[in-house]
Amino acid sequence: MLPKQVSSESIYVKTRPAKPLVSIVLPAFNEEATLQTTISRISDVMQNLDLTYEIIVVNDGSSDQTKTVLEDLVKRHTEVKAIHFSRNFGHQIAVTAGVDHAIGDVVVLMDADLQDPPELIEQFLEKWREGYDVVYAVRQKREGESWFKKISAHLFYRVLRAMTDIDIPMDTGDFRLMSREVALTLSAIRERHRFIRGMIAWMGFRQIGVPYERQERFAGESKYPLRKMIRFSIDGITSFSFRPLQFATHVGVFVAFCGFLGMLAVLYEKIFTRNTVQGWTSLMLVVLFLGGIQLILLGVVGEYIGRIYDEVRGRPMYIVEQRSNLNHSALEQAQ
Ligand code: UDP
Ligand code: MG
Repeated sequence: MLPKQVSSESIYVKTRPAKPLVSIVLPAFNEEATLQTTISRISDVMQNLDLTYEIIVVNDGSSDQTKTVLEDLVKRHTEVKAIHFSRNFGHQIAVTAGVDHAIGDVVVLMDADLQDPPELIEQFLEKWREGYDVVYAVRQKREGESWFKKISAHLFYRVLRAMTDIDIPMDTGDFRLMSREVALTLSAIRERHRFIRGMIAWMGFRQIGVPYERQERFAGESKYPLRKMIRFSIDGITSFSFRPLQFATHVGVFVAFCGFLGMLAVLYEKIFTRNTVQGWTSLMLVVLFLGGIQLILLGVVGEYIGRIYDEVRGRPMYIVEQRSNLNHSALEQAQ
């Protein structure tokens, strides 16, 4: 029998470097007002921890001065690296591009608006040293966000859990640390409609949550209008569940059954009674109701077909216009 100190777990832990290289990925869409402060807060934290780090900022096709601000930061700080997209590809894809280019032993995902406090990285690293591969931050409280955002987010996570079979942690955003293996696996999955927190939950590995209070946005406005939030929610559900399609079948069976009962009733009236001409109202109701249901269910099917089409076309997930202080990702070099 192995003595206690040399359990398989402690061997596993020992393989982790004492001073890991930390890659921090920041997606930025119109963040001219926040970038500078965010970078300096992160730099302070990393210098206090006495670790080497790189900050990869992905400029997701910003239309403000983000590019100029970022290029200026790249010139002044060797740790800062930049990817400029040719247009706006969306938050999840910007994060993916950052992860594709990261070379760290651990990769931290974080928003550029300081809603996710960089000070938490220390706790993330502690858990990572204990042997966890994914350490995600769980929101205990959300400061300064509208009640609508809070309620819709609360509902979304519960619906998502009810609809999918994988264990997606509640009230968890993308703010997290992942080990090199997890980052490589995430990069290897080239799905275009990405729901990163779900993909990581699906991967398995050893995962754990750390509680935190989500801060108010430091400057600027949310870059997630309702339209993007709805897209994101549909991506989350359709990426991990066929339930909407199964639901379509159930509704179809139920409506067909009602239709059959209606048929019997109509035939009965025709054969055994004389009041057959009446019924314009009920006819219209049935036509409109069925028309509505059919269109909705067609839309559900369409969502999935659209996704299949997107994947099958095999276009690149994102287009980089310029890289600063950064090489091509390993993935691109392999091609
Ligand atoms: N973001 C992005 N592309 C987008 C929208 C947002 O890269 O199309 C970035 C944004 O710059 C920020 C992060 O994603 O760093 C989260 O966005 P935001 O803070 O606006 O969302 P919220 O916190 O309001 O949910
Ligand atoms: Mg934010």
